[in-house]
Amino acid sequence: WKRMDFPWTKKLEANNKKVFGNHSFRPSQREVINATMSGCDVFVLMPTGGGKSLTYQLPALICPGVTLVVSPLVSLIQDQIMHLKQWTEQQEIFRELMSSVCTYKLLYVTPEKVAKSDVLLRHLDSLYSRELLARIVIDEAHCVSQWGHDFRPDYQGLGILKQKFPNTPVLALTATATASVKEDVVQALGLENCVIFKQSFNRPNLSYSIMPKTKKCLDDMDKFIKENHFDECGIVYCLSRMDCEKVAEKLQEYGHKAAFYHGSMDPPQRAYVQNQWSKDEINIICATVAFGMGINKPDVRFVIHHSLPKSIEGYHQECGRAGRDGLRSSCVLYYSYGDYIRVKHMLTQGVIEQTPLAYGSRRGAFTNNDRVLETNIENLLRMVSYCENDADCRRLLQLIHFGENFSPENCNKTCDNCLKMLHWIEKDVTDIAKQLIELVKSTGQKHSSAHILEVFRGSLNQNIKKYKHETLSLHGAGKHLAKGDASRIMRHLVVEDILVEDVKKSDLYGSVSSILKNLSAKLYASLRMLRTILVKEAGEG
Ligand code: ADP
Ligand code: ZN
Repeated sequence: WKRMDFPWTKKLEANNKKVFGNHSFRPSQREVINATMSGCDVFVLMPTGGGKSLTYQLPALICPGVTLVVSPLVSLIQDQIMHLKQWTEQQEIFRELMSSVCTYKLLYVTPEKVAKSDVLLRHLDSLYSRELLARIVIDEAHCVSQWGHDFRPDYQGLGILKQKFPNTPVLALTATATASVKEDVVQALGLENCVIFKQSFNRPNLSYSIMPKTKKCLDDMDKFIKENHFDECGIVYCLSRMDCEKVAEKLQEYGHKAAFYHGSMDPPQRAYVQNQWSKDEINIICATVAFGMGINKPDVRFVIHHSLPKSIEGYHQECGRAGRDGLRSSCVLYYSYGDYIRVKHMLTQGVIEQTPLAYGSRRGAFTNNDRVLETNIENLLRMVSYCENDADCRRLLQLIHFGENFSPENCNKTCDNCLKMLHWIEKDVTDIAKQLIELVKSTGQKHSSAHILEVFRGSLNQNIKKYKHETLSLHGAGKHLAKGDASRIMRHLVVEDILVEDVKKSDLYGSVSSILKNLSAKLYASLRMLRTILVKEAGEG
């Protein structure tokens, strides 16, 4: 798809310069555009800031017809305006769509609109039959998957678009997707034979560290900012609205130009803060995850997590808002186990603030559904184990989660764990690996890795009692191991496909959760390799 001799290549170059002011294309942009303009369905996995918008805006400009963009952000950007003008404006838009010389190039709609508006579908029908439906773009496509961290029920209905408009190419875009999310998306949207573009999720210019969260967390934070990023731009992610306000107030006392931003502020207030931030009148925003989607400030120098993020995917995406200009930026997370309990409680109660977006029935869907709750708690537990890991490269841990391989030497000591210079020693862990595999089998291959590890370590938590797993002979067999070692071995088994993280759908809600399965055929072939798993030893290197 790199070729420069497509019929549209010249036009592409010219418009990229003239209309968008870009001197060149960023990695994958040209390839994605060529594939979608050739009429293929395309799935694009590109990190935040990679330049996804151009891949549909440029084709929209040079192709005849209308490009439909389904985006959850529409409501975010336009919620103020839409409330007021909704009805009349819609009438006008529909009239234009029906006119024979429709001049629109891009039509942005929320997924909710596609799911619920017959009128919209009728108009799309009409465009389609006149061969004026040029392309269908699904932005933030990972929201289709319940397996992801950001599921939105209305996205599941989007499969209808491919059914109704089979000849219109679909372009699905996302910045967060593991292999299973990708499969879910491709299947739910009905994209057969689609071309897949996947970029590395590594962000070399970001540094990562985890700090213990103590009572004097805000003092630490103040010190960190003053020492490393004084008067520079940053985001402090907080768990609750109250936290945002408290943290902002404290930072102001310390002399920072800080403000807060969260979902219970009214739209004009939010717009005011956003605007001040874009103009550098404020440099630190203390926000819930409601802040950030659709925010495009290139010079954010730090992202601080004042409390535990809900998933590794969410964490990666939130950190990704730093350093979009490619310059060095810091990501610091203040971690305490107490926050895990707190987030878990909020998830259980359904009172946690999710990313903003389409006004859906999402909250209800979340609280009433045990399986979804279990998935959320598993995602949270992975985040906990990321934080508690004090040996492995942070990049490696994040990238494994996205199904990427990464050699820690390439971290160049830009994460706290690599800076520690621990040394690796070789240990034979075959017996431990066998025990873990045995546990997966004897518990029926239907539990998550977090659960298996808890059993192995001899925990007596609620779930273990519920399944009577404390009665297994291997319960507590791994007591003597450091927690990090057991999960490192488990992770290795998964990376090597000896254990497989699979998606389990519950019958009732169609929701999913991860379970471990064992492909026993591979076990013995891999044993030799297992002997050389490296276990990191604490101490000076
Ligand atoms: P994403 O949606 O992948 O997060 P965007 O489409 O918002 O990223 O693009 C991020 C930034 O990069 C925007 O400011 C955009 O104008 C800029 N950008 C995109 N493509 C190019 C390019 N080829 N050259 C220069 N800047 C670009
Ligand atoms: Zn590292």
